[in-house]
Amino acid sequence: MASPMTTPRKLFRTRKAITLASLTFLLGLLFAAPIMAEDTPPRLILQITVDALRGDLPQRFDKVLGEGGFRYLAENGVYYTDAHYQHANTETIVGHTSLATGTVPAAHGMVANVWFDREQDRLAYNIEDPDYHLLTEGADVDRKTEIDPTQRTARSDGRSPANILTSTFSDELAVHFAGQSKIFGVSIKDRGAVALAGHAGKAFWFSKKSGEFVTSNYYYEQYPAWVTEWNARKPAAAYSGKSWELTHEPSRYLFGTKDNRFYETDIDGFGRTFPHPYGEVGDKYFTTKLTLSPAGDELTLDFAKTLLDREQLGQDEIPDYLSISFSSTDYVGHIFGASSLEIEDNLVRLDRTLADLFSYVDEKVGLENTLIVLSADHGQPEVPGHLNEHGIQDARYFDTKALDKSGAIASLKAQFGIGKELIEDYFHPYLYLNYKAIDAKGLDRAAVEKAVAAELLKFDGIAYAVSSRALRTDTLPDTLMTRSVLRNFHPKRSGDIYLVFEPNIFINDFDGLTVSSTHGSPWRYDTYVPVVFAGHGVKPMRVERAVTPYDIAPTLAGYLGVKPPSGAIGEVLPEVLAK
Ligand SMILES: [Zn+2]
Repeated sequence: MASPMTTPRKLFRTRKAITLASLTFLLGLLFAAPIMAEDTPPRLILQITVDALRGDLPQRFDKVLGEGGFRYLAENGVYYTDAHYQHANTETIVGHTSLATGTVPAAHGMVANVWFDREQDRLAYNIEDPDYHLLTEGADVDRKTEIDPTQRTARSDGRSPANILTSTFSDELAVHFAGQSKIFGVSIKDRGAVALAGHAGKAFWFSKKSGEFVTSNYYYEQYPAWVTEWNARKPAAAYSGKSWELTHEPSRYLFGTKDNRFYETDIDGFGRTFPHPYGEVGDKYFTTKLTLSPAGDELTLDFAKTLLDREQLGQDEIPDYLSISFSSTDYVGHIFGASSLEIEDNLVRLDRTLADLFSYVDEKVGLENTLIVLSADHGQPEVPGHLNEHGIQDARYFDTKALDKSGAIASLKAQFGIGKELIEDYFHPYLYLNYKAIDAKGLDRAAVEKAVAAELLKFDGIAYAVSSRALRTDTLPDTLMTRSVLRNFHPKRSGDIYLVFEPNIFINDFDGLTVSSTHGSPWRYDTYVPVVFAGHGVKPMRVERAVTPYDIAPTLAGYLGVKPPSGAIGEVLPEVLAK
């Protein structure tokens, strides 16, 4: 099913072929409608999220993809080719929760991967919850080796969906079927699993520290036997001593002659060129390296297949729900960039992973009984170095740490008589001001915020700066930028000043970890994702009309006749429901 093709077909058929296909479909409807069997609801909803899969990537690398994965979706699904998020902060928890709830962060409350909790005077990690601990002792984030800076902000090992303020599609499914639907979320990333499992489902994610899939006591008092058995098999350890090797001959790839690029992140022992060695089990960064490669997705697949089988998903008339979020594309993109041999081969491997998954679901449940939806939590930018190579010279990194010492802010501080730092910190996408220093001088916080935002706007590379107070109280011009920042605004969680950089201006320093590329902007490369529905009664169609990923949850709800999630603003996509 996943064998590479020698003469690959285009991922999408031509417009003419599609028109003919649609015509045949419409004629078919006229004559065959009474005997169509799609009135039985699907037995399984399979929601796939590919972390950071920018909308163009499957088509861009279509020459190296095989059968049964993306090609299955393109040929058998309703494929939306122009889907964009409309909120400003295109980060992982924000996107995953938007997929789950069908709404924007202003409603679901997950405004960023981290935000500063003024009441507790500390940084909060999105799904952190000190009331619910991990079931595995010692599987907490290892602050010494954790390279995902957002993960290091959590102060306890507890995780739960409590911070998600509106209901998810999976919650609505649980309520509608009186708890009879089995609901699961799986991912390498805790936030990738928790958001989609919702408040009613169960979530499992990967602990880099223990090399196992774990959960918290929000979900379980103890692990189901199959999880303990899966972990005891130690599937991660099987990669010990191995490397991420290139799948095809280099000549088949768009980037086959461009493996070694100075702007790629050179992780010690992993390197910038193929093969990328994982090292030995027990090495400090062994499990981290698995997540920086397709191995992370392969482990996720293996765990999800076991779950599907052992939890008997899709075996009766009550629809079950399985969310799988594949994280490798995001990590590979951060380290090597969206235009790299690594991201290209990662797509080849992801394509095989998807083909394997679809084939397994077909065998266990039947694709005709399974409604599949695939999307991403955000897109992916290019690395400045790559853009520079192609004459796009203004692409560069922006140093937020230098802001406080800049001439403009320094003269503001002199004007206000503030000797200490005025800009305390930057946690994407918000700047935080030193309120203590402002209050100590008896200054009006609103006036200082306004002055800082006005100065920031004059900086080269900053496109927009607005304080949360202004968003709450002022009459602001109705621009696209204000709207997208407002969609991201939550009065209790948003930071002091929202910063938007110009297109192709990126931050690459996160707590000392330098990466090649970082998403999180409101620009089209970061908002662009695929949206595809397939399986069950879905008829193939390519749709170029602009849609949003917020449409997914209401569409799933509409498909099943379940009420939409509480904050949903998306629309039901008629092509998916067309019978
Ligand atoms: Zn992400």
